[in-house]
Amino acid sequence: MEYDFIVVGAGSAGCVVAHRLSQDLNAKVLLLEKGNTDSNPMIHLVPGYKYLMQNKKITKNYETDNIKHLNGRRLIWPRGEVLGGCSSVNGMIHMRADKLDFNDWENKGIKGWGWNDVLPFYKKLEDSDIINSNWHGYNGPIKVSTVKSRHIICEAFVKGCLELGYPFNNDVNGISRNGVGYLQLSCFKGKRYSSAKGYLTKLNKKNNISISINSNVNKILIKNKKAYGVSYTKNGKDLTAVASKEIIISTGTISSPVLLQLSGLGPQELLSANGVAVIHDIPGVGENLQDHFQIQSIYKTQNSFSFNNLDQSFFRKIKEGVKLLLTGKSILSESATHVFLNTKKINKISTQDLEFLFSLASGDVLKRKLDTFPGITISFHQSRPKSRGSVKILSKLSKLDPLINPNYLSEEEDKIAYIRGLKLIRSIVKNNEMKKYIKSEYTPGNAVNYDHELLQYSKIVGKTGYHPVGTCKMGIDDMSVVDNKAKVKSIKCLRVVDASIIPNIISGNINATVLMIGEKISQSIIDEYKNIL
Ligand SMILES: Cc1cc2nc3c(=O)[nH]c(=O)nc-3n(C[C@H](O)[C@H](O)[C@H](O)COP(=O)(O)OP(=O)(O)OC[C@H]3O[C@@H](n4cnc5c(N)ncnc54)[C@H](O)[C@@H]3O)c2cc1C
Repeated sequence: MEYDFIVVGAGSAGCVVAHRLSQDLNAKVLLLEKGNTDSNPMIHLVPGYKYLMQNKKITKNYETDNIKHLNGRRLIWPRGEVLGGCSSVNGMIHMRADKLDFNDWENKGIKGWGWNDVLPFYKKLEDSDIINSNWHGYNGPIKVSTVKSRHIICEAFVKGCLELGYPFNNDVNGISRNGVGYLQLSCFKGKRYSSAKGYLTKLNKKNNISISINSNVNKILIKNKKAYGVSYTKNGKDLTAVASKEIIISTGTISSPVLLQLSGLGPQELLSANGVAVIHDIPGVGENLQDHFQIQSIYKTQNSFSFNNLDQSFFRKIKEGVKLLLTGKSILSESATHVFLNTKKINKISTQDLEFLFSLASGDVLKRKLDTFPGITISFHQSRPKSRGSVKILSKLSKLDPLINPNYLSEEEDKIAYIRGLKLIRSIVKNNEMKKYIKSEYTPGNAVNYDHELLQYSKIVGKTGYHPVGTCKMGIDDMSVVDNKAKVKSIKCLRVVDASIIPNIISGNINATVLMIGEKISQSIIDEYKNIL
């Protein structure tokens, strides 16, 4: 088939773009995905989350470089490599960014990305269970459900936050994101709504879209500064595909800059050092890497529910699993994380804003091991950290992983934020209501008190919040890679559409925003081609 568009990467954004271009524009689309199908049932069930990260057929675990300000630690950065990308393995928290995040983008000269411009696209992707609100979408491909259970210990946490002066928020994706409230998740009746589930299962039968799995794209083909195709390997064979209109790269914050760099688009020095012929010197490709660095405190609990207890009981797990499959109603139908607190002040954003998640479980998700005692975790990240890192190829061979340096805690403001956050958790937990359910602080523990100790703890336990962004940033300055329509500067017929184009990390979990970006850029493409195709 001759294609109008090739979309590379069937992750959160790629599935949206492939769907919209093939279904709404009627274009002929080839969607190339490195990973396999999403047929593993654990992807689709809410409690399956913890089984995905160690499954090499589904998740690629990158390792970062030694991180200077974390005592030289190297961290694991998991990425979903499967249909749906990270949306098939993520924690399903559905959260929009703050209005003020987008004002910030507009102030940076990125036209058409103010709050009123993006809100319709957030709504377009959603099928929300919030009743009758102008703030939510009801016909979109992604089902969004509010956490329904009200566990006593969650209510106590809410009370602790209220007593410290944070307002109650009964719709954390509503008019305001401030304060404490129950989460919204991209799932329904215990089943995940990844972008593959939402967008690829709803394709028409017009035969104008081909989805090719196990297809690892290693180069964008460019002639006279115009992209016209890609080369890729599938089942050991080297193949090429061409498109008459555009190539759209949606391979995520790590792979998108890598693919551009391998194709001769990136910082001249880096490309030359790796023997890649420079097609265009774009210094920002791979720079500006940002992530939500995540810290957690764990408490041993009593007199309340913890998923740790459930995990210890084989029979209860089976019983709840069967209930989930048969009725969709079970304690397993909601993720372990229930409550959200945002410390931001109304009408003001700062690097000191923090966001907390309250989970009814504790342990090591990467190792798939919950603690044997009943416990809860209060984790948090700084909404808008200042530290910046980079992603750089180490070879012109696409098989080698790049050098990932998140550079966490390299800025003083970021360090202060984490010390504050750990202290704030202790203030919330001191509340009389919480005291009824808290047995003891497990981590950081009573021996960790002074600021330097809290900072040291952060350096030892901190990990990725799984939200890397920014390595092909949108903007108008010299370090930006794409313009406000996601077109790669100076190269025709090439766009990047995924988390890598987010110029400044947003507050909240980022998947809803990546889907929104997919919807918004798809509309730009449709507007551009609707009278041509
Ligand atoms: C463990 C985990 C938990 C998370 N939890 C949450 C959460 O609860 N809420 C939230 O909002 N966000 C969460 N996130 C983050 C969120 O899911 C991601 O930020 C988002 O999915 C990124 O979307 P993307 O389109 O940029 O990239 P991805 O979804 O990563 O898609 C990129 C796709 O491109 C493919 N690809 C890569 N290289 C190539 C290549 N060379 N050729 C062909 N295909 C290629 C990949 O296989 C992948 O399918 C989580 C992420 C992880 C990993």
